[in-house]
Amino acid sequence: MVESEEAMKNYPTVLLMNPIEEGQDYVVDVDPVISRHTGGKTKIGIFPPLGMTCVAAVLRKHDIPVTILDPIPQGYSFEGALEYARSFDVIIITLAASNAQGAYRFFSSLKDKVRIFMGTHATALADYILEKGYCDIIIRGEPEYTTLETIKNLHNLESVLGVSYRKGGKMVSNEDRPLIENLDDLPFPARDLTDNMKYHIVSFPGKPVAMVLTSRGCPFECTFCATHLFYKRKRNVRSPENVVKEVEKIVHDYGIAHIFFIDDTFTIGEKRIVKLCQLLQEKKLKIEWICLGRVDTVTESMLREMKEAGCKEVIYGIESASTTVLTMIKKDITIEQMEMAVTTTKNLKIRVSLFFMFGNPGDTLQSIRETSRLARRLNPNFASFNIATPDPGTPLFESFKERFAEETFETFDRLNTSFSMCEVPADQLRRELIRAYLLYYCRPTYWLHLLKYLISDPLNAPSILSLFYRHAMIVLS
Ligand code: SF4
Repeated sequence: MVESEEAMKNYPTVLLMNPIEEGQDYVVDVDPVISRHTGGKTKIGIFPPLGMTCVAAVLRKHDIPVTILDPIPQGYSFEGALEYARSFDVIIITLAASNAQGAYRFFSSLKDKVRIFMGTHATALADYILEKGYCDIIIRGEPEYTTLETIKNLHNLESVLGVSYRKGGKMVSNEDRPLIENLDDLPFPARDLTDNMKYHIVSFPGKPVAMVLTSRGCPFECTFCATHLFYKRKRNVRSPENVVKEVEKIVHDYGIAHIFFIDDTFTIGEKRIVKLCQLLQEKKLKIEWICLGRVDTVTESMLREMKEAGCKEVIYGIESASTTVLTMIKKDITIEQMEMAVTTTKNLKIRVSLFFMFGNPGDTLQSIRETSRLARRLNPNFASFNIATPDPGTPLFESFKERFAEETFETFDRLNTSFSMCEVPADQLRRELIRAYLLYYCRPTYWLHLLKYLISDPLNAPSILSLFYRHAMIVLS
């Protein structure tokens, strides 16, 4: 659509930004498109702001002047970011549970601007946030077209689907926006609005990384996951051809050869994955990539194609060794599937990272220790232990929300908790987490394995060791 010059001049200037807390020096893994989690402390890697670049691309396509600020990687303090934001008409922050209080304070100094929150946390708690007056508008769910229509109709939001706002002292919540039907129609993320060299992840230490979404949503029903809030258990996929075009652009325009396919579950749909991998191979792009998988969706032939196409690592959510817990959290996977997926992936010389959770409903001290033992038995390259967190927007949150105060849910961060959902007290969950980390990473077999890894990639040894040190400090602090 071509806008008239007059209309273009009249559009407000828009700043999309990640939140920042006073004194904050870490990045929160929150994204308005990747909706699985509403934010935990991640200090070992800085994820590119993919969701904001997706929104920015759509705004820009419609001639709306848009800028992205990612305060921590760009070296801004809370005050510096505030100063920067003052020169825009509309400020849109992707809200995270773990620094919501900072974001509220940030917006309290910008009352003369149009203040908008988006993301899972804002979607899940729209009424609460608006009632408190922390912002003016909330963009709920998949954000691209809701943001576009909001900016175009800032003073007349009645017909904009997917927004909640205050009007005359009352809260208005418009109907949900239907999901984007054809993801191939979206412009590629506006990566030129960010400093792409600043982003890196633990899997590719010291190398710039780009995140790519080949699909949105997930049909599974894990109770600790908020992805359904946006995508309603539907899964929308891009064509392999469209994905490969984006990857080519990343390689050629930005010189980035490391990709994180950040789909909720990349490995669903063998035929499509195989086609994508074959196209990647045909293009000879020489990329290395990682993805998130589910143990019950991978096959040996699929993993083989992935390996050939440059896959270096698959991250699986294992969560627990207890079938009671797995049933209660609706994870719906078996120990046999875990073993098969991990063994097959490792046999193909693809690295394996596994996520485990302690403290879900049904967990006991015995099942937590069994989970810790399972981690050592599966013996992945990296094991991540977390405390189960009832993030707003998850079915877990709905089951427990009556039991904690309003502000409590904004203090969760996956390494600490003041709230237990099982018979093991909160302070013991924290001790079990540290115990599991020590038992896992202080094994001679693990050090041998790490040594081999360092020898295979000596140039990156300092980065890898520094990441290990930093992560250890986070867990133990
Ligand atoms: S498999 Fe479970 S945790 Fe993973 S995205 Fe789907 S619902 Fe969420």
